[in-house]
Amino acid sequence: MTENSCSGNNLNAAACELLERESERLGLVFAGAAGEETDRNFLSEYGRWLDEGCAGEMGYLREHFPLLRNASSVLPGAVSVLLFALPWPLPGLEYPAGNGFISSYARGRDYHKVMRSKLRDIIRSLSPLYPGASFRAAADSAPVPEVEKAAETNFGRRGRSSLLISERQGSAFFLGEIITDAFIRKSFPEPADPCRGCDRCLRRCPGHAIRGDGFIDARKCLSYLTIEFHGTFTDAESSSIGGRVYGCDECLLSCPWNRRRKVSSFVSDFKERGALLTLTLREKLLLSEEEFLTLTEGSAIRRIGWLQWLRNTACAMGNISRDPEDIPALKSRLGLSVPLDAEIRRASAKIAARAGS
Ligand code: SF4
Ligand code: SF4
Repeated sequence: MTENSCSGNNLNAAACELLERESERLGLVFAGAAGEETDRNFLSEYGRWLDEGCAGEMGYLREHFPLLRNASSVLPGAVSVLLFALPWPLPGLEYPAGNGFISSYARGRDYHKVMRSKLRDIIRSLSPLYPGASFRAAADSAPVPEVEKAAETNFGRRGRSSLLISERQGSAFFLGEIITDAFIRKSFPEPADPCRGCDRCLRRCPGHAIRGDGFIDARKCLSYLTIEFHGTFTDAESSSIGGRVYGCDECLLSCPWNRRRKVSSFVSDFKERGALLTLTLREKLLLSEEEFLTLTEGSAIRRIGWLQWLRNTACAMGNISRDPEDIPALKSRLGLSVPLDAEIRRASAKIAARAGS
């Protein structure tokens, strides 16, 4: 297959051309169109990963596992999965450490909303070419192994960090998809192994979660711990989180492909929303639930809820604060939840020890 070629008939070529044009107009990148079946080798590796317990408390991943085999479990009669990438800015770790870290992808508008609205626009443009066909847009909202599907089109390859790496886009992009019963195919030339001779993300991963085989142990990943895990941290987990309040970008920031990526602009929805970023950790801790909900309106951060936000903030304070005045602020939040109380006690003891040393 030649570079960026569209296989098949004229209709397929017209669809690919339209998908490229519309994607560009909307700030997306058309990442190819794969078939409905998922690669069996991937399914057995993924099944092993689940059996080893590496998904932690994300029980829905196990429930969805049988549905990953074929896109027809999402849309009856589906024969194609169209993939789209939406890059986000990766500014680094450079805002005040005392404010706590928020992952770059969550500093603007919730990408689920942004992606789905763009995919609906694409469906509106594409459907006249396929009268009577069905289309379903998804962004983390359907059991589709999107990294694997985008690897099937050769848009990129799964790196050791488990993220999809594209030579042009790096790995800081969201994937979304349209599942359809219209037959559309597009693939790219097979990329070289992006990780050859590199182990930067393994060395930089603060939770030692990256296994090196393209899968991570989510239970040790700080993104999982701060976002997906709702319980009480162990001492080791709490310390590994450092000053992070939401997510971790180390595997993105350490990856050389993100320094080389050729992305000239980003959609305006991903512009950083100042307020949550500029609050100090103590100010974040003292937000009322109402203030938290107002400040996180339209943001992915809202999904973790106020109590988990407070738990993470207390944890970050315990790891980086040297100010004894943070202790009464922490104690004023006692009694709201068991995981938060555990973090408040641990953080207060750490700050007292640091302030007294
Ligand atoms: S997000 Fe952080 S903790 Fe998780 S795998 Fe990447 S570097 Fe490791
Ligand atoms: S940092 Fe290196 S090993 Fe890790 S995903 Fe990027 S290229 Fe691969």
